Amino acid sequence: MQSEFVILGAGITGITVAAELKDRAVLLEKENSIGGLVRTHCIDGFWFDHVLHILHFRDDETEAYIKNILPEGMLQPCPPKAWIETEYGNVLYPFQLNIGALDDKMKMQCVHDFAKACFSSEKEQTDNYKDFLLNIFGKGMCEVFYFPYNKKLYKYPLEKINATQLSWNLHQPKFEDILEGAFFPNKYRETYNTHAFYPRPHKDATQRGMQVLTEALAKNVVNKKLNFTVTAINTANKTITGKSDGGEKQIKYDRCFSTIPLPVLMKMCSNVPPDLIEKVQSLENNIVYSVAVCIKGKRPENTGHWRYYTDENLPFTRLIFMTEFDEYNAPENGWGVLAEVSHYARNPALCIPDLEKKIIFGFKKLGLLDQNQVVHKVHTWIAEPAYVIFTHETKNIIEECHEYLKLYDITSSGRFGNWEYSSIYQNIRTALQWTKQFK
Ligand SMILES: Cc1cc2nc3c(=O)[nH]c(=O)nc-3n(C[C@H](O)[C@H](O)[C@H](O)COP(=O)(O)OP(=O)(O)OC[C@H]3O[C@@H](n4cnc5c(N)ncnc54)[C@H](O)[C@@H]3O)c2cc1C
Repeated sequence: MQSEFVILGAGITGITVAAELKDRAVLLEKENSIGGLVRTHCIDGFWFDHVLHILHFRDDETEAYIKNILPEGMLQPCPPKAWIETEYGNVLYPFQLNIGALDDKMKMQCVHDFAKACFSSEKEQTDNYKDFLLNIFGKGMCEVFYFPYNKKLYKYPLEKINATQLSWNLHQPKFEDILEGAFFPNKYRETYNTHAFYPRPHKDATQRGMQVLTEALAKNVVNKKLNFTVTAINTANKTITGKSDGGEKQIKYDRCFSTIPLPVLMKMCSNVPPDLIEKVQSLENNIVYSVAVCIKGKRPENTGHWRYYTDENLPFTRLIFMTEFDEYNAPENGWGVLAEVSHYARNPALCIPDLEKKIIFGFKKLGLLDQNQVVHKVHTWIAEPAYVIFTHETKNIIEECHEYLKLYDITSSGRFGNWEYSSIYQNIRTALQWTKQFK
């Protein structure tokens, strides 16, 4: 078989490219359904996104493109409300603008240390994430939230993480804003991520959650093959080999657009210099176990859309309350919580039954479950990779991979193809920009 464009992976990035290139492209996906991370699962009427998903837009063109794909009115504003639970008090997100919710001593400490960081004349430029956070927020805020949360999320020493790739969403607030939050905390404020959206189909729709977007985009895909696992790419004769229907299949391409995680892709390609293979294998990431808990009983109030947890004794980094996004994400007298558990990719896999027990125990400890609430079902799925961990070597390794792949007309893109921290909107924008050159 031959195709002008072969697209590897039917996540949001691959689907967008395939939808734009129509019959000039074939889309290959190893799973039996499309969507990659942007899938939504239904368990007895309880709907859960694969991981927390909310749409943020940063440019009008992509916003218009996405809104145009979905039926009118489907995408509803969903300015997120998130809480951060710390041992010194519960603080509304963003943490730094609400420190007045901490106990008096800690609040004072945070203001004092922020002033020191803000007005210090001897600030060192640093690309070490730990020092970078200290420079921006000061010691108090780092010790209450930024250090314990990021350690729990990345499961990696913060001083070994490179800050440059994470700095886009972290800016030093103005001193007057910190003071306002210290005096008048937990007031809802407009921030960079307030312009957010979530699909809300009608009550009896057969599909809910963010998967609505993948399904709508996929309607424009002409050629797709599910259950097709790409296993090798012969770069010399531009041939992709994969397993499908128990047999081996080959497809020749003029151009290949891959969204498969970069380390996996590089291992599949022929003739990659051994030293580059070795470097690629040193790329670091974490995994997220998404534990979906279906609960029967009255919905809790004032949870916000999600909550962050710094406590090391609780297994989850965040709890996501699905009915806050869409009231029909669960039956009337029920609610669903998605618990995100972060895990370092090189550590042995977690035992899922044990993990699920610990999650329920954690819910009880937090007072989320009382005698009137019944856990109906628990189910776990895994996002792997989930968060890329940027070390000081990551940027150069990625660049070297792209240079190699370009020689053979392979573009590696998307959150894991480009080994980046990106969002749905960014993936769609990048995919649209890439296809523009071939129209
Ligand atoms: C915990 C978490 C929270 C997030 N929250 C948000 C949010 O709130 N808002 C937001 O906009 N974004 C969010 N994101 C980011 C968003 O999910 C991603 O940017 C996006 O889904 C990436 O899409 P993709 O197509 O690049 O990759 P993927 O979705 O990973 O797609 C890659 C596809 O390739 C397939 N594949 C892999 N190997 C092979 C193979 N050998 N052969 C064939 N197919 C293969 C996979 O099965 C998959 O379908 C979040 C991500 C995570 C992990």
